[in-house]
Amino acid sequence: MTDDRLIFEKSSAGRKAFSLPDLDIPEEDIDELVPKDLLRAELNLPELAEIDVVRHFTNLSRKNFGVDSGFYPLGSCTMKYNPKVNEEAAKSPGFTDIHPLQDEAEIQGILELLYNFEQYMCAIFGYDAFTLQPAAGAHGELTSLMMIKAYHRDKGNGKRDKVIIPDSSHGTNPASVSMVGYHPIVVKSNGRGNIDIDALIKAVGDDTAGLMLTNPNTLGLFDEHILGIADIVHQAGGLLYYDGANANATLGICRPADLGFDVAHFNLHKTFATPHGCGGPGAGPVGVNKKLEPFLPVPRIVKTVSGFEFSISDFPKSIGRVHSFHGNINVIVKAYAYIRSLGAKGLKEVAENAVLNANYLMERLKKYYYLPYDRPCQHEFVISAKWQKEKFGVKALDIAKRLLDYGFHPPTIYFPLIVEEALMIEPTETESKETLDAFCDAMIKIAQECETDPEIVKSAPHNTPVGRLDETKAAREPDLKWH
Ligand SMILES: *Cc1c(COP(=O)(O)O)cnc(C)c1O
Repeated sequence: MTDDRLIFEKSSAGRKAFSLPDLDIPEEDIDELVPKDLLRAELNLPELAEIDVVRHFTNLSRKNFGVDSGFYPLGSCTMKYNPKVNEEAAKSPGFTDIHPLQDEAEIQGILELLYNFEQYMCAIFGYDAFTLQPAAGAHGELTSLMMIKAYHRDKGNGKRDKVIIPDSSHGTNPASVSMVGYHPIVVKSNGRGNIDIDALIKAVGDDTAGLMLTNPNTLGLFDEHILGIADIVHQAGGLLYYDGANANATLGICRPADLGFDVAHFNLHKTFATPHGCGGPGAGPVGVNKKLEPFLPVPRIVKTVSGFEFSISDFPKSIGRVHSFHGNINVIVKAYAYIRSLGAKGLKEVAENAVLNANYLMERLKKYYYLPYDRPCQHEFVISAKWQKEKFGVKALDIAKRLLDYGFHPPTIYFPLIVEEALMIEPTETESKETLDAFCDAMIKIAQECETDPEIVKSAPHNTPVGRLDETKAAREPDLKWH
């Protein structure tokens, strides 16, 4: 350990990677210009040449896995290729050099872009209006539930406080429900991976505020009874919420608003190819139909005869702001570029290819891994390491780690919770047949290793910069600082 630390320490006193212009104010004025408590004689910073800094960060980045360096089939996360043209568009000075406090007259360009983006989202998903403020999917859920709550209060139904959620739901769903002071009611899935209709009928009542559903759900399966489900919830006086974090399978094919969902969020950092992960800024715009439109966050951008402007006063029932200023606008610019470069036909092809790729992988892998729901999937599917665990003591975690040795990012594991030893795979539309085949070959090879040499799988990874980590210790006692 000590040796590693010595190698890691690259600082050398007096070395530097900058040259500053000479001080052009009298030194005696500094005391006056800079408050005393902000002045430090010693700055304990590493001292390095530019080349050392560049190599340090470049080498660190290469130790990590990213969607630009390899296949990343992380189910329910849509880690697809992020086209570089989106980045080019978003870094134009016209977008980066503006300030949210500028006068509306000076920022008509970005206002028009945001206004048009809202129109595109309405057209793609069937809604009457959108808010672009939420910074993530979970934030979109919270925003939506706040609107649902405001809607019921407005109708004098303030005592409705239960939200029905299937047992396959994403973990953020029940968490968002609790955050607005509602209570999640979990209903079972049936043998086809759909909502159990009898269980749903028993769960709804005059205390139902709504239902939250992902369709296709986190098993990658489309619930064919969605119109009936919508009727049951609406007749009970509840609203339907669509978790559209991953809308890859349905773009241009079907629209959640047409299926009966009153409100929905969509992750631009998943479906619309903006960068994603490591907590980087995302965006989870929320679409609503007429029932919920009055409650949308403000300010909203409206079009007037003289141009685009922010409006607050026109929306007295609004839940207010859910983000400082207007959301993560730079993310929206990237998603705008993505939509404009693909067009309606291209977006539909996204869905067709995402579904085709997932079904191709599923068909190739189902001979080697247990497939709990054997029917055509949408953009993702869930297989299980149940056979490997029962026969050879190898778990989904081990298989995920072994994939790293073959140069692939592991799929999502142990989710959804209703499948034991789950491996949830989402290839996305941006991968070629060669990449899909290489991934299948690695998965099949690992299935064979489980039989012939299970230890090599259980002790994986072997080829990565660090070996198998104690993940519990890493989470409980993180050591993140270089002293
Ligand atoms: C990713 C995801 C979310 C949450 O989105 P964040 O941007 O991570 O907050 C919610 N639901 C589903 C189905 C998801 O896949």
